[in-house]
Amino acid sequence: MSETAPTLFTRIINREIPADIIYEDELCIVIHDIAPQAPIHVLIIPKQPIARLADAAQTDQSILGHLMLVAGDVARRLDVDDAFRLVVNNGADAGQTVFHLHLHILAGVKGSKEFFETDIGG
Ligand code: AMP
Repeated sequence: MSETAPTLFTRIINREIPADIIYEDELCIVIHDIAPQAPIHVLIIPKQPIARLADAAQTDQSILGHLMLVAGDVARRLDVDDAFRLVVNNGADAGQTVFHLHLHILAGVKGSKEFFETDIGG
């Protein structure tokens, strides 16, 4: 039997590590990023730990759709639904540092063309 250590985000979901949780349902949590790269920077994290988007399977279709719907809902609640970026870093070379799938919502730089053209990897 092989056991893998729980990811950082699983430990946050299990309340073993504190985080600023702004939304939770049976499938995911949403937390403020600890090192925000925009005035609003939150992470949408499935409770089911898929390491990378590229590791998702056909059976993950409904959770992936759920994360997208939560992204839109959270953006509305944060009043940034007219201007936000949704980012998934896939793989270390793309800047992924936590190998538990998560969506970044970045917003709050109204009208900044520069922000919307900036890479957020790494
Ligand atoms: P990525 O680089 O795409 O894997 O994103 C991981 C994100 O998790 C980074 O933006 C980190 O700032 C963020 N992060 C790391 N540790 C924590 C934590 N304890 N609480 C909240 N966000 C975290």
